[in-house]
Amino acid sequence: MAALVSPPSLLRRGRDVRDESERASRKPRKSGKSGKLGKGPRDWPGQLRESVRTVEDLSKALSLTPEELEGARRAELEGLPLAITPYYLSLCDPHDPRCPVRLQCVPRIEEGDTVPGDLADPLGEVAHEVAPHLVQRYPDRVLLLATDRCAVYCRFCTRSRMVGDGGGPVSLERLEPAFAYIAAHPEVRDVIVSGGDPLAMATERIDRLLTRIRQIPTVETIRLATRVPVTLPMRITSELVRTLRKHHPIWVMTHFNHPKELSRDSIAACERLADAGFPVMNQSVLLAGINDDADVLETLYRGLIRARVRPYYLLQADPVRGTGHLRTPLSKGIEIMERLQGRLTSIALPKLICDTPGGKGKVPLSPDWVVSKHDGTTVLRTFRGEEVAYVDPPARASV
Ligand code: SF4
Repeated sequence: MAALVSPPSLLRRGRDVRDESERASRKPRKSGKSGKLGKGPRDWPGQLRESVRTVEDLSKALSLTPEELEGARRAELEGLPLAITPYYLSLCDPHDPRCPVRLQCVPRIEEGDTVPGDLADPLGEVAHEVAPHLVQRYPDRVLLLATDRCAVYCRFCTRSRMVGDGGGPVSLERLEPAFAYIAAHPEVRDVIVSGGDPLAMATERIDRLLTRIRQIPTVETIRLATRVPVTLPMRITSELVRTLRKHHPIWVMTHFNHPKELSRDSIAACERLADAGFPVMNQSVLLAGINDDADVLETLYRGLIRARVRPYYLLQADPVRGTGHLRTPLSKGIEIMERLQGRLTSIALPKLICDTPGGKGKVPLSPDWVVSKHDGTTVLRTFRGEEVAYVDPPARASV
């Protein structure tokens, strides 16, 4: 794993005792699978057990290009590991290396490249660690990294320096300094539980974690940052939903990037969450060759709001080392937002955000709608290209 600095809690982890479903997620998939892309087991531990984790199994499922084969070999040996659930693999086109789902989960040779601007830890999380496994970049919220494990390892992952490192879920004992920090800082109102993917942990473990966070009276909201509705929708079981409901208000932050990911299963997972009262928000990452197109994003966002998921952010891809082939210039996102403005209902229109390198904070980006400003009159350009003047009210004399 690439690592620049070494307070080790965000870089390397020790092992914890795991329950059955968590152990299943690390068991190698049996060889000898057919190349047919069925959705696999209906239960989530079965999906994790049957996940593709080796070059051999990946080559049986997809006809790999030399670039993918080399990328998969590299992933097996070093860097961000390979793991794809049978469900997510079933969304991949087995013959088209440009398939937008396949590009998100199948490693490529370019992951070995470094391009200008690349960083191992683009959001400066190691530098902003305030307690082991706890990152604070804004006064009112913290990020708790509860596990290093995910159902699928996304090839664009901002935390590729640490996810899939082998440590697994972090025990409550090891998170105590993080809880103590939150309790000692009442200005922290919002705890984002992430990792890895917190919903890839066993339900009882999630329950214990949320119970412990809820013991801190100053915490108002808990956000779960998870990709399982996209990559492992059968994880959103009624048992999980019942467990999470005990800890409301909980917001679910999920991460669909392409309309192909909006399958019947993933839509049903989002609807189960919405029915149980969880606001479900979506953060997409703008990815070259995957979703850097206004028509693709329009289809995605319309599908999300039909599933009662609010498109929240369109994130400029972070400059993670080894993802240069997936990044777009800043101008691309601005151009897309310009095309979507007025065309998409506002509940479907996310904010375009650049999370600035070094962890300095998120900056919203927007097309320039102001044509001129003069003597209290501002000329604005509408989405139809018309120029309209807005006249400020006269300055008021102070009373
Ligand atoms: S699920 Fe999230 S944390 Fe895990 S690999 Fe994908 S982007 Fe990274």
